[in-house]
Amino acid sequence: MAKIFSIANQKGGVGKTTTTVNLAAALAASGQRVLLVDLDPQGNATMGSGVDKRGLASSVYQVLLGLCSIASARQRSESGGYDVLPANRELAGAEVEMVEIDERETRLKRALKVHEQDYDFILIDCPPALSLLTLNGLCAAHGVIIPMQCEYYALEGLSDLVNTIKQVHRNLNGDLEIIGLLRVMFDPRSTLALQVSAQLEAHFGDKVFATLVPRNVRLAEAPSYGMPGVVFDRASKGAQAYVAFAVEMIERFRRAEASQSRAGSSSPATA
Ligand code: ATP
Ligand code: MG
Repeated sequence: MAKIFSIANQKGGVGKTTTTVNLAAALAASGQRVLLVDLDPQGNATMGSGVDKRGLASSVYQVLLGLCSIASARQRSESGGYDVLPANRELAGAEVEMVEIDERETRLKRALKVHEQDYDFILIDCPPALSLLTLNGLCAAHGVIIPMQCEYYALEGLSDLVNTIKQVHRNLNGDLEIIGLLRVMFDPRSTLALQVSAQLEAHFGDKVFATLVPRNVRLAEAPSYGMPGVVFDRASKGAQAYVAFAVEMIERFRRAEASQSRAGSSSPATA
């Protein structure tokens, strides 16, 4: 069954899309079946995957409104080796149009349900707001990956996001947990970055991923070629960090599954 993760942070420009696209490509390169859901009207994850957001016949917008299925809206990222449920500006209207619809927070969750067996990982790129679209991302997911820059204000925004995740966990999606915080655009020469990074580790412990993604211009250049950075320049430091991040994710879930099955086999209920 697919593991579904939302990549979320209501702060803009913190590396959500770069993380989603590169994690999708790195997981796909290691043989995982991946669907990337672009839940942002900016359509950056769509374009960065090499899918043209202009003139899409159907997109995540129609899927959320129940006008078409994921199977007919999804496209292939040829450069990334994964499927994309694309988005464009049309999606901005969905916030308003969904107000009339029942159970509007769980539209994406229900649409994805049919595809649980088609993928190993489903990654949802959320927009920079705690909006109804992000809420759909959080309701559909098993966990949240939070990319963040190690700056002073990053910590301030984090408590709002953590509180939203707790509320969603309590009221809408009992499965939801924080998978981890990913430090991105990291500059080890900056004293502030090192201090904030240490604070994060002190506060969130092993929820902070070991992988550090450095600031790397090749990651920023890749989207204009319609390619994930890990494909555009695999040897670059940024690409290597995202490949390491994918390995860390896979390892983490292998360990969790192994300990679950050990617990299961020793349980009298399953004996
Ligand atoms: P938004 O909130 O607008 O959706 P975002 O959180 O998705 O933004 P990105 O679009 O991934 O953030 O990144 C913001 C900018 O920073 C982009 O121009 C991107 O290319 C650049 N960027 C992201 N990560 C890195 C990195 N590790 N090194 C250099 N540039 C990066
Ligand atoms: Mg983005």
